[in-house]
Amino acid sequence: MNIILLGPPGAGKGTQAKRLEAERGMVQLSTGDMLRSAVASKSALGREAQAIMDAGHLVRDDVMIGIIADRISHPDCAKGFTLDGFPRTTAQAEALDRMLKEKGLRLNAVIELKVDQNALFDRIQGRASEAEAGSERADDNIGVLRKRLEVYQGQTAPIIPYYKKKGLLHEVNGMQGIGAVAKAIDAILAHKANKEIQPC
Ligand code: AMP
Repeated sequence: MNIILLGPPGAGKGTQAKRLEAERGMVQLSTGDMLRSAVASKSALGREAQAIMDAGHLVRDDVMIGIIADRISHPDCAKGFTLDGFPRTTAQAEALDRMLKEKGLRLNAVIELKVDQNALFDRIQGRASEAEAGSERADDNIGVLRKRLEVYQGQTAPIIPYYKKKGLLHEVNGMQGIGAVAKAIDAILAHKANKEIQPC
C-alpha cells in the first residue's frame, strides 16, 4: 500500500506512520525527518533548510520534490510507503503524481487526520514545553507552531479537494486516542486491500 497521511502539525501523522512501518513494513517517508537529518549533518541542504524550518515556513517545492523523487526510488519503497509531511502544496501533489506515474506506482489512499484547532493548540503547546525542556526540534516553540498551522491552512489544506476529486480521500477523526486512530486507519487499508483483490 502506498498512502499519504495528511493533517496539520500535531495531528499524529508521525506516530501513525511509524506504527505502519513497524507493523506492515510500509516505509515512513517523512520529509521533516529527512530535513532534520540534513540540518544535523550540516549539508548544503541542511544549511539552506534550517532558517526556513526554524521560522515555520516551507522549504522550496523543487528542493522537496527532488528529495522525495530520490527517496522513493530506493528498493525498500517497493514494499509500500507512507508519505508523512509530503505533499504540502499543490505543486508538490502534482509533481508526486508525475513521479509515481513514471515509476509505474500509484497511491492507494490519502488519509486526512482531522483535528480541532483549539485542541491542536493544546497539543502543540505541550510539544513546545517539551521542546523547552530539551527536545531536539528547534521549530517547536509556540509562535513557530502557530505559523506552521497558518501555513498548513493556507498552502497544504488546499490539496485536500485535489485528492477528494480523485476519489482517494478518507477522513479519520484525529481527536481520538492513538489506538482508535490506528484502528480507523487499519479499517481503511483493509477495505482498500479487499477492493484490490475483487475481480472487476
Ligand atoms: P514536519 O516534521 O513534517 O512537521 O516538518 C518540519 C518542517 O520541515 C516544516 O515546518 C517545513 O519547514 C519543512 N518541511 C517538511 N516537509 C516539507 C515539505 N513537503 N515541503 C516544504 N517544507 C517541508
